[in-house]
Amino acid sequence: MAAEIIDGKKISADIKEEVKEEVEKLKEQTGKVPGLAVIIVGEDPASKVYVRNKGRACDMIGIYSEQITMDASISQQELTDKVKQLNEDEKIDGILVQSPLPEGLDEMAVVNTIDPSKDVDGFHPINVGKLLIGEDTFVSCTPAGVQQLLLRSGVEIEGKHVVIVGRSNIVGKPIAALLMQKKPGANATVTVCHSRTADLGAVTREAEILIAAIGKPKIITADMVSEGAVVIDVGINRVEDASRKSGYRLVGDVDYEAVSQKVSKITPVPGGVGPMTIAMLMYNTLKSFKIRNGLI
Ligand code: NDP
Repeated sequence: MAAEIIDGKKISADIKEEVKEEVEKLKEQTGKVPGLAVIIVGEDPASKVYVRNKGRACDMIGIYSEQITMDASISQQELTDKVKQLNEDEKIDGILVQSPLPEGLDEMAVVNTIDPSKDVDGFHPINVGKLLIGEDTFVSCTPAGVQQLLLRSGVEIEGKHVVIVGRSNIVGKPIAALLMQKKPGANATVTVCHSRTADLGAVTREAEILIAAIGKPKIITADMVSEGAVVIDVGINRVEDASRKSGYRLVGDVDYEAVSQKVSKITPVPGGVGPMTIAMLMYNTLKSFKIRNGLI
């Protein structure tokens, strides 16, 4: 039987609507709105699209947004000076530096300059550390989105064996930290796999919830999942497709056609995890505003 599709577009729209309603309420109460600053350096076309989409989401929700476009030739110092200026800016509750940065700029050094109380991407080591020890923090947007997809589609996480394929600092590791928390909506038994895992299929077949964050098209095949599992596909891969005007289409890390015949629930690509990232960014920006204004 074909799997139930976990509709990331719908769940993302619901979250954005909830954030919008709260922003409107808080605007009436305080006369202020949350503010997000996004820095983009250089001309990467994909980054430009992501940044534009973030700005649009802010406009739709009523969040004040600033896009700071910097030339690819700027120095590390100029970039960190800009971040420091935004750290002091009262209108700004969230600061995000769009990755990847052009070669020669040290991304981690820039992230380390962001005031952790405005780090709505959840990449600052202080926030990563807080996540690991179970303190309230900004959970980075894609991992938080994965958790919301599961919870809002009625998937019980507690006590389940979650297998994550991928151990990057921005996706695999924080998802593991999040889902193993001793907290409601977590409490999973988590296994993390990577490129050195021996017999990947043997491990993924044990998964009740399988999360693929690899970055390789269709690497998770039907023989690697068990009947009835829930599959979350974080991967976004471009594959050639001559029938498209663009010459390519997007696919996930999971062989969707075959795997969806075997599992109980699955996210599509596109339309699964992708839309959740912006929704959680909006959520984190609102959360920062509330903390910074003593509202929580
Ligand atoms: P990284 O390249 O940083 O990490 C990939 C991980 O996959 C690594 O841990 C790597 O192992 C592991 N891996 C690679 N090949 C294999 C293999 N053959 N078997 C098992 N594990 C393997 O990628 P990211 O975490 O940044 O991103 C992963 C995917 O998610 C990408 O497609 C990216 O585009 C997408 N993504 C989607 C987002 C969204 O909003 N939906 C947001 C962020 C990312 P090792 O550590 O050993 O190298």
